Amino acid sequence: MSGIVYERVALIGLGLIASSMFWAIRRAGLATEVTGYARSQETRDTARRIGLCDRVCDDLAEAVAEADLVVLAVPVGAMGDIARQIAPHLKPGATVTDVGSVKRAVVDAVAPHLPDTVHFVPAHPLAGTEHSGPQSGFAELFDDRWCLIVPDENTDHNAVARLRDLWRGIGSHVEIMDPDHHDLVLAVTSHAPHLIAYTMVGVADDLRRVTDSEVIKYSAAGFRDFTRIAASDPTMWRDVFLNNKDATLEILGRFTEELFALQRAIRTGDGDHLHAYFTRTRAIRRGIIEAGQDTDAPDFGRKKTPK
Ligand code: NAP
Repeated sequence: MSGIVYERVALIGLGLIASSMFWAIRRAGLATEVTGYARSQETRDTARRIGLCDRVCDDLAEAVAEADLVVLAVPVGAMGDIARQIAPHLKPGATVTDVGSVKRAVVDAVAPHLPDTVHFVPAHPLAGTEHSGPQSGFAELFDDRWCLIVPDENTDHNAVARLRDLWRGIGSHVEIMDPDHHDLVLAVTSHAPHLIAYTMVGVADDLRRVTDSEVIKYSAAGFRDFTRIAASDPTMWRDVFLNNKDATLEILGRFTEELFALQRAIRTGDGDHLHAYFTRTRAIRRGIIEAGQDTDAPDFGRKKTPK
């Protein structure tokens, strides 16, 4: 799909998500001009060097001044402050959106700063990698992934439809969701799993009877996948947990109960319990593959490790 959806788009924050959006917007010709702003000179210089954005601005106000769509692509904890800074410079009729991994806290932090003359349409693309920064982006990141848009009941329908068209043009499937439900779903599918991965890698690091080199050399699929997740950006993930506290704690409480049950089954030798449990979880994996959200290639399609 292609065709101009917004004349001018401003990307605020130039990391993995914003840079991938830029390359995907350019691939499909969805905007006439994309401006970009990042807080550090280093990131702005890198963006200019690699041709990320049509115009990189040193000033936040200049980046958003003419924009029909402003995308907040900074860590969740920084969204409110950015909204406060851009508010006086927004063009009447513009749409402000974000890509934050948490939605209720972002809505509460951003909405009060924005003037009535603009539309606020929060969103969250469900795609990412463990890499960050302006050089980590690529046009295909969002292809066939979901983007959840979380407007409230008063949001202008045309503004929502236009943002949906942008995300479809970028390559994603789009669904509308309530912000609180979003935070619960993401606590199950992303936030709690990340915390568990961080913990497991931390445990391996603490376990001095197994040396670092053994952990790396013999890392089997399970641990290796945890290390990839646990390499994700520390600032982003700190903000996710601080801003999706209730839902994450709810899921971690349930996780702990299940873990105790499995621990008991192992201690008492209850093989039936373990087998039934693992049969149920295997079906979920099949469901994800059938939905096209992962590959069933052996070892997740990885190349063979050289001997
Ligand atoms: P990233 O690669 O780490 O880039 C973050 C950008 O935000 C950088 O340009 C950085 O500027 C800027 N920034 C950081 N702290 C800031 C602050 N306090 N004030 C102003 N700017 C600040 O991050 P990302 O992965 O693109 O994530 C951006 C957003 O997308 C986050 O809200 C995250 O929750 C969400 N998200 C991430 C993923 C993922 O897997 N990575 C997936 C979906 C959604 P400098 O470079 O100048 O420091």
